[in-house]
Amino acid sequence: MRNLLFVISGPSGVGKGTLVEELLKADGGLQKSVSCTTRLPRPGETPGRNYYFVDREAFERGIEENAFLEYDAHFENYYGTPRAFVEKTLKTRSVILEIDVKGGLSCKRQMPERTVLIFIAPPDLRALKERLLGRRAETEEQIELRLARAEYELSRREQYDYVVVNDDLQQAKEELLAIIQREKNRN
Ligand code: 5GP
Repeated sequence: MRNLLFVISGPSGVGKGTLVEELLKADGGLQKSVSCTTRLPRPGETPGRNYYFVDREAFERGIEENAFLEYDAHFENYYGTPRAFVEKTLKTRSVILEIDVKGGLSCKRQMPERTVLIFIAPPDLRALKERLLGRRAETEEQIELRLARAEYELSRREQYDYVVVNDDLQQAKEELLAIIQREKNRN
């Protein structure tokens, strides 16, 4: 069985986080990589579990030291995948990254044989907007920014290996587990 890098991307509000949690529960051979970010924690987020929250200076030092497998800036904050953790974990297990499309494509360029890109798509954009509004954690303006970003992400999904529509959580989870098994077992 191969140890692979599974990248889960998709517009925010599409349910990626919940799906990733479900995958980790269902498949003990998967390990999630926790990203670093310079944004502040949201209520309910735990450092080291959701993200490593670092300041800009520390992040920029990491960039200089080539500590990120990939990194990007969104909404004026940096987000990056710790390279050492991913490389070490891949020796024994498969790794899940929950990152944006640009980051996913960057992983694919660096590790084409090992990276499987999976895009989670909403059934439709209106459903996504309703979900984002339902969160109520953000201002109208922040939601508009996220929707614009969502449209951009959706426009890039053809570059992904798989697209899974998250209409029904259970069904999406099973589809994802099947993809993961198939890819791990491929020679
Ligand atoms: P949020 O602030 O909602 O947690 O994340 C904003 C965006 O950053 C999401 O699209 C998320 O997938 C992306 N993101 C999170 N971690 C990383 C990372 O390590 N690298 C990249 N490129 N994007 C990330």
